[in-house]
Amino acid sequence: MTASMPDYPSALPASGRSADELLNDIEAGRTGDLDWQSGRAFSLVYNAADPDLEHLQHGVADLFLHDNALNPMAYPSLRAMETSIIAMAADLFGTDARAGALTSGGTESIFCAVQVAREHARKVMAIPEPTIVVPHTAHPAFDKAAKYLDIEIIRVAVDPDGRADADTLADAMDERTAMVVGSAPCYPYGVMDPITDIAALAADAGILCHVDACLGGWLLPFWEANGETVTPWTFAVDGVTSMSADIHKYGYGYKGASVVLYRDRSLLKNQFFSFDDWPGGFYGSATPAGTRPAPPIAGAWATLVHLGSEGLVAKAADVLAATRRFVSFVDKTDGLGLVRRPDMSVVLFSATDPSTNPALAAELHAGGWKVDVQQEGLHLMMSPGHLAVLPDFEGAIVLALAAVSASPAAPQDGANEPARYADRAI
Ligand SMILES: *Cc1c(COP(=O)(O)O)cnc(C)c1O
Repeated sequence: MTASMPDYPSALPASGRSADELLNDIEAGRTGDLDWQSGRAFSLVYNAADPDLEHLQHGVADLFLHDNALNPMAYPSLRAMETSIIAMAADLFGTDARAGALTSGGTESIFCAVQVAREHARKVMAIPEPTIVVPHTAHPAFDKAAKYLDIEIIRVAVDPDGRADADTLADAMDERTAMVVGSAPCYPYGVMDPITDIAALAADAGILCHVDACLGGWLLPFWEANGETVTPWTFAVDGVTSMSADIHKYGYGYKGASVVLYRDRSLLKNQFFSFDDWPGGFYGSATPAGTRPAPPIAGAWATLVHLGSEGLVAKAADVLAATRRFVSFVDKTDGLGLVRRPDMSVVLFSATDPSTNPALAAELHAGGWKVDVQQEGLHLMMSPGHLAVLPDFEGAIVLALAAVSASPAAPQDGANEPARYADRAI
């Protein structure tokens, strides 16, 4: 059967199409989509490069395709997996096995933590209009949560190395502050905020402290097991009261799985919702979602149990090797520099003339390499699947640099800021 691009109707077609034919066309329609399996993509998908895991994930997704985790009582197996995921996370990050919830992703985990902070501020701290204070590098999910929850968010500048500064955060705090945030690490630069200092600040002020470990939560423990020094960031740090950690990033689950954890279950309970004043019976939930897809729960559980800590240590070894290799490539290549020196697997690098970054990215994109263009440089996140392609990628960058310097592009809108870049230690 020859596949063609599907027609995407704007109204429901009168007669349906055959499943096989449609599948073929849908596949043909994906030609422009991000091809993560090639290893040429550096964001959105965390490529475990693991055929066994892939097989398991397809199997488990298929098994649970139609199930609904809205009512865990109807699915003892899903409930057991969910409880087990939270317990495994709590064990890894050092909190009570019952003080967490599984969510659909980092944004939802952060939403929950901000909602808990608002509730806690109003109920326990007598702050009717709470605010949260976050570093400039904190993920936009905090602003999104603040918008939906109608609370004020204050963003403060970070240090030249890209890390939050506890004193700067302290200066922005006042009697309305309900929570302060640090990232482990932040997405833009991959640097660790000084969680010990930030959490101490929160403890002194009697407020909450959230650690956004969406990116690092399922990698940092194994990074450390590979001999890297990791500054403290878990519940072992006094004053940390909540944490978000995405299984669908470096936990290698497929999309739709993250955990939000608290220092104790009483904080978590602020998330719980129950209602019975309608004719539909008792309704309760632990997170914002109602009907919940079962495949991400089963997939996350199966992935973590399949890999185990030894598997995650081995994956982290590949991520570490890829990161080291690429960082040293950037360091030794004329015309390139690191924008910040990362603590984990994120590399933000720039052409020495940052105004050429968009042209450099365009050259790479033309060769099928997908890197994100940010304000200050080109952004990559390393996965186990990248180790094998880095020699090709580095070759492509050298060629792209040559092509760009041979035909300098006109400065583009939103181009980088050479003066600021020049100030930076790289
Ligand atoms: C990815 C990420 C988030 C948001 O998670 P989603 O799963 O995309 O909703 C939040 N914080 C950090 C540091 C992240 O890397």
